[in-house]
Amino acid sequence: MLIKKIIGVLSALAFVLAAGLTAAEAAEIQWFGQSALKITTPGGKVIMIDPFITKNPKTPKKLKDLKKLGKVDLVMITHGHGDHIGDSVAIAKMNDAKIVLNADMGRTFATNGWIGMKQLVRINKSGPVKPLGDGITITMVRAEHSSEVVYKDGGGKMSMEPGGEPAGYIIKLEDGYTIYHAGDTGVFGDMKFIAEYYKPDVAFLPIGGWFTMDPAHAAYAVKTLLKTKTVVPFHYGTFGLLKGTPAEFKAALGSFPTNVVVMKPGETRTFK
Ligand code: ZN
Repeated sequence: MLIKKIIGVLSALAFVLAAGLTAAEAAEIQWFGQSALKITTPGGKVIMIDPFITKNPKTPKKLKDLKKLGKVDLVMITHGHGDHIGDSVAIAKMNDAKIVLNADMGRTFATNGWIGMKQLVRINKSGPVKPLGDGITITMVRAEHSSEVVYKDGGGKMSMEPGGEPAGYIIKLEDGYTIYHAGDTGVFGDMKFIAEYYKPDVAFLPIGGWFTMDPAHAAYAVKTLLKTKTVVPFHYGTFGLLKGTPAEFKAALGSFPTNVVVMKPGETRTFK
């Protein structure tokens, strides 16, 4: 009887400890400038999204060595533009990691011999996938943008290939924390669907303007469609045309109760 009680107390204690440990861990997200994120999940998986690093003028020099990323479990690409494909193929090859991307751009990658079909997770919108196992669900969502893939062929001539449709991603982590990476996008009404259906805890939104939402459009998207608790502005200041600033974004949000997290390129923050 006593032994049973002791075992009961011990297992309850173990449960409390385990719960405590889990609660203490949270997503860590590092921003490299533009739309490049490194997500370290509560379960220790590492995901790189739009890893434009070695040629990114905003990425701190000390972070440009791809080996310093450490182990990467998965790469994701929102669309075919060079500042989003970035170092995806190199990182995937270094780590034997898969690349999640839209099905058509995947064909472009494979038929040009940039990477084998087996290393690609070719998906499309509203079809959730779990390439890292049961704990993490990735869903492609709409983005209002374009997606051609421009590259130099063997002779150094510029060529263009289909990049499928541009996209954003919803990443639901092991603890349920849900990240919305909007990719490059203008405002679209279905951001309301994204908010209602996926309930993201944080939204990474472009604010630079010209090719994407400017601060005023991004603020409208947050206030009327997304209503996300936490928003991180990105895709600004990298090139001269991307003039929107976080200060303009905050001013356009006014008193709307969203926590705007402004990160510095290279910075890592905990999100929970
Ligand atoms: Zn783009």
